[in-house]
Amino acid sequence: MAKRKPHKKKLSKKKPPKKKLPRPKLTRAKIAEMFAIWQRMNPNPETELNYHNPYTLVVAVALSAQATDVGVNKATKALFEIADTPKKMLAIGEDRLRGYIKTIGLYKTKAKNVIGLSQRLVDEFDSQVPDNRADLESLPGVGRKTANVVLNVAYGQPTMAVDTHIFRVGNRTGMAPGKTPLEVELNLLKAIPPEYALHAHHWLILHGRYTCKARMPMCYNCAVSHICKFKDKTKPVD
Ligand code: SF4
Repeated sequence: MAKRKPHKKKLSKKKPPKKKLPRPKLTRAKIAEMFAIWQRMNPNPETELNYHNPYTLVVAVALSAQATDVGVNKATKALFEIADTPKKMLAIGEDRLRGYIKTIGLYKTKAKNVIGLSQRLVDEFDSQVPDNRADLESLPGVGRKTANVVLNVAYGQPTMAVDTHIFRVGNRTGMAPGKTPLEVELNLLKAIPPEYALHAHHWLILHGRYTCKARMPMCYNCAVSHICKFKDKTKPVD
C-alpha cells in the first residue's frame, strides 16, 4: 500500500485582520473645533513635570507612574541638583537614590529602574537619551507611555502619551473611544488635525486634570461642553 504523505498545514499568506478601533462619536470638524478652542486658551501648553534635559525628563516621567507631578517635582528638586546625568546618578547609587524618592509610590522599584536605565544609557547610548521609540522602550522602566512623552517633549514629535486623564477625556467626549490606552492613542492620532498634533497631548492632560476631572467633571465651566458627547454633564451645585 502506498505510503500517505504527511499532512502539511497550509499556511495562509493573508495577514490576520486588524482589530477595528471603536468609532469616534465626533466628526473630524468637531474635534478640530475643540483643539482650536484649547489652542486659543493656552497657545503653548507645557508639561508640569520639572526637568533640566532629556535625561532628567526620562527619570521624571518614569517616576511619575501612579504618582502626581507635584509629588514627583518635590522629590526631584534636590535630586536633579546633584544628579542630572546618567553617570552622576550611578555615582549616587540605588540606596541613596531611594532616600531622595521615598515619598513617591513604588519608590523601590522605581529606584532600581532609574539605576538600570542610567547604566544602559552609559553602556549603550554614550549617555544620551535616544530619540526613537525602540531604543527608548529598551530602557528599564520605560514603556510606551514614557517613550511617547519623551519623544514629544524632548524631541518635538507628535506622539500621544495616553495617561489616565487622556484616557478619560478621549472616552467621555466621544473624541477617541477605546477600551485600552492603545486604542485611545490610535484613535487620537487618527482624529487630531496635524496642526494641533504637537501640543494635543498637553491640552488633553490639562483639560482632564483641571476641568474634566475623574469624579466630578466641571461641565458647567467647560469650554468644549457644547461639542462634548458626555451624557451626564454636571451642573453647578447651588
Ligand atoms: S462637558 Fe464635561 S465631560 Fe465633556 S469635556 Fe467638558 S468637563 Fe468633560
